[in-house]
Amino acid sequence: MPPVFFRFGILFPSGYEYHPKGIGYLTRRVVKSKPVKKRKPSSTGGFSSVRALARPDEWALGMGLKVDGKPFSLEGREYIRQVIRDTSPEIVIPKAAQTAFTVSFLTRTLHWITQRKWHHLYLLPLKTGAIPFVQARIDPIIDSNEILRSNFASVDNRLHKQSKENINLYIRGTNIVNELQEIPVDVEVWDERDRMVEENLEEARHRMDGSHIKRLTILSTPTAPGHGVDAEDGWWASDQHLWEIPCPGCGRFQVLTFEDSLKLGDAADECVLECLFCKRQFQDHERRTQNAHGRWVPQNLTGKIRGYHISQFNSPTQPLVSIMKGWYTGQRDARKLKSFFNQSLGRPYTAAGDQFTPQILDKCVSPAHSLGGIPDGPVYIGVDVGTHIHVKASTLTRFGTRRTWAMKIMREWHELDQFLSGLMSFICVIDAHPEKRAARDLSIKYPGKVWLGFEMDRPQTQEMAVWNPVKYGEATKCIIDRTMAFDQVIKDYMDGKVILPGNARWLGEELVNKDYNGFYFHMLQMVRVEREDAQGRIRAFWQKNKNPDHWHHADMFELIATMRRPTLEVSREISELFGRTSLVAS
Ligand SMILES: [Zn+2]
Repeated sequence: MPPVFFRFGILFPSGYEYHPKGIGYLTRRVVKSKPVKKRKPSSTGGFSSVRALARPDEWALGMGLKVDGKPFSLEGREYIRQVIRDTSPEIVIPKAAQTAFTVSFLTRTLHWITQRKWHHLYLLPLKTGAIPFVQARIDPIIDSNEILRSNFASVDNRLHKQSKENINLYIRGTNIVNELQEIPVDVEVWDERDRMVEENLEEARHRMDGSHIKRLTILSTPTAPGHGVDAEDGWWASDQHLWEIPCPGCGRFQVLTFEDSLKLGDAADECVLECLFCKRQFQDHERRTQNAHGRWVPQNLTGKIRGYHISQFNSPTQPLVSIMKGWYTGQRDARKLKSFFNQSLGRPYTAAGDQFTPQILDKCVSPAHSLGGIPDGPVYIGVDVGTHIHVKASTLTRFGTRRTWAMKIMREWHELDQFLSGLMSFICVIDAHPEKRAARDLSIKYPGKVWLGFEMDRPQTQEMAVWNPVKYGEATKCIIDRTMAFDQVIKDYMDGKVILPGNARWLGEELVNKDYNGFYFHMLQMVRVEREDAQGRIRAFWQKNKNPDHWHHADMFELIATMRRPTLEVSREISELFGRTSLVAS
């Protein structure tokens, strides 16, 4: 059998062949693998078998390693075998909780350090979690074998281990950026990617720049669609291997899924997993034993990186009833439902109100409404500053609903000045980051009307926005509680407190291959997440991904602008009637 073969112009990986019945359906040739025998270490302390050197699982079996207190074994978790042996440059694994991937990659880390002599960075979300992680998960594996223990004996630093041959294992948290510097490595494992500090991940990745080996494995329980392991450059760029097991009745291979395999009952103990083909029920012990006959099947042959995903339906230890409890408690508790999708199914999920959807925006569209015309009151303007200047402006209805009046993308600051100078009465809040001289100048030119908005994650305030006093000749500032502000933005849309024009889907930058343009696209990117901070407190915040989100920011600044009522400026003709040049009333 050639290692790779072509059929219909498609490149198939080794071991797979085209299935004649289905379009693009792949089936793997059945190869029965022999049961692995335990090997005894040779007198030299190494292994006579070359295979054991190449395969972390056989090495761990031969060494009699203990992981999480039990002898290392793939029994019931045979899905680990291919993954732990995979040497692809980049592997992404959105996974359910308790599917033994962390312990497998710790085993692989120790194998690759001692057998391949590759330097490793094992990356965790926070530094505070790193020391307990080393004590609870890494040290017991090392201590479970005399050879391994003596190999790492010279270590006194808990977050830096070194083998006798001076091969390094660094354990780091993503929150301390300077501890991610000056540690050149060959291999990185990012464990719990979705909880990591996004801004510091590029810095971490650069630690492999000097290596010709460069192997990155990204593991995570997924969180929100489009974020972390579920990003366009994560799972969606991968070849998306899913785990199939054969039905014990009819023998046909299938992925156990929530949508197709599960029959929901009235309670957790009434749910069953059924064969897609013969409808025979999978018992808990059969889900475990069938893993021994399972196989990984790629779903996306054009994937550029390697991807594996598995849910708890393939867990050898989780009974279906305890998995499904999360679904039923989740029907009354949105947080538990999210946890069911993330932890049990290994799938991204957002609760209503945690992320915009095209449907939420569509509901605010008023087909008869269009942009422009003479504003029927003060105009409230939000401005996001990037390569371009995104300007969104609305008026308020008498019920306080924001009615979109203008959306403009400007290249130069004088365009914004021109736009503002044509308005009778307005409040404008401009993004203060990145700091621009031009924004300050506008604030000075239009005192009390143009404000610099500072987005803060945790300002020490109880309000969504705090307005500093207006001083003539100085830029005026307002401090914005970012989380509160973005929470209010989505709440307003969900409550129908925003009116968008009939062509809302086609506003903003033109996008190809999407059924909306830039405005919708930008609004969909951020997601509200809750996570533990360095002090162990659960905090909510709106998390960005790599895609642009300028309209979402402009919209938020516009909302902030509506919190302030403009001063009433009486027109020149009326002022002249009163014999004054101008009349300003609060
Ligand atoms: Zn069947």
